[in-house]
Amino acid sequence: MLTEYVTEQHPITDTFSRPLRNLRVSVTDRCNLRCQYCMPEEEYVWLPREDLLSFEETSRLVELFTELGVDKVRLTGGEPLLRRDLPALVNMLARNPRVKDLAMTTNGVLLAEQAKPLYDAGLHRVTISLDTLRPQRFRALTRRDSLDKVLNGIKAAREAGFEGVKIDAVIMRGVNEDELIDLFEYGKRLGAEVRFIEYMDVGGATKWSMDKVVSRAEMLDLLGRQYGRIEPVTEVSSAPAERFVLPDGTVFGIIASTTAPFCSSCDRSRLTADGMWYLCLYAQEGIDLRTPLRLGASREELKSAIVSRWTTRRDRGAEERLQLGSRGVSVPIEGLKKDPHLEMHTKGG
Ligand code: SAM
Ligand code: SF4
Ligand code: SF4
Repeated sequence: MLTEYVTEQHPITDTFSRPLRNLRVSVTDRCNLRCQYCMPEEEYVWLPREDLLSFEETSRLVELFTELGVDKVRLTGGEPLLRRDLPALVNMLARNPRVKDLAMTTNGVLLAEQAKPLYDAGLHRVTISLDTLRPQRFRALTRRDSLDKVLNGIKAAREAGFEGVKIDAVIMRGVNEDELIDLFEYGKRLGAEVRFIEYMDVGGATKWSMDKVVSRAEMLDLLGRQYGRIEPVTEVSSAPAERFVLPDGTVFGIIASTTAPFCSSCDRSRLTADGMWYLCLYAQEGIDLRTPLRLGASREELKSAIVSRWTTRRDRGAEERLQLGSRGVSVPIEGLKKDPHLEMHTKGG
């Protein structure tokens, strides 16, 4: 059988020789913020509750993926901390010895109360999204008044014992590009690596336009003017962030998915909270793993389905978007309403 030949050392590869290594697991499509760049609409179509995978189902699917080469798992959403009893899932995933890196991306609003239980359950790393340090701007950007909670959450993550806390900031022109230095300094004080993300035209970014994108080049220019010479950190990695170092040794990252995509080394795929598997952030169609799982498909059958899709994978969504001459939103609102899986907050950021 095909899957017997796949091992940790020899993961399956797609048509561009990219291994299946990295799985983002969305545990909910719900969110307690309404970030302009992700959920700018008033109303959303939510996944039916009965379709959500139980922790046992999620953990079983993750186990199959890890038998096929996945060794990095990132919990995401929507807002993952809205999923009740998340430490129980973390505990199940952390017991899988094939998972070498178990991380979570969160908006941090509920982190103050959950950081310790998550750490104790075996979560390795946390990335917190934080785009502004100004309360009024936070409110305008997220339509919620939660900045203090996020800042307390970040502190709590450090106190709980998490090392290598990262802070991700989406930079938008006319919104927060004047805070690059403040965010950078905040991360430095905390000992957290800051990563600046270019505004992407992903599903859900219904207000996206190219003129609102602050490019990697502009960000480097801005930081360079403040801090002097910036050097790239030389490393071999499939991680989306390119890392840079300042003269004083502080390291930061830039995720330039819009102007300099990194599809050629992309080993990521996404499992939605209802068990759809997407091979690219821009993919319009996913593979339903929940139905066969619930109908009692065997491990080998499920693994064969995964292998046959990954080995024919040709996705390079961000590069294809870059090649388009003029660019608008990637999925219009009607398309998102018809299939909410195409939303960033459902597919799992
Ligand atoms: N709710 C959690 C959070 O915000 O960290 C996890 C899910 S969120 C979809 C994951 C990441 O996607 C966040 O860091 C967010 O900033 C990023 N994101 C969402 N929409 C984006 C966009 N249009 N461009 C760039 N990054 C985006
Ligand atoms: Fe913001 Fe994350 Fe919620 Fe999207 S899912 S609205 S990025 S907090
Ligand atoms: Fe990977 Fe698709 Fe993102 Fe390219 S656009 S890096 S292929 S998820």
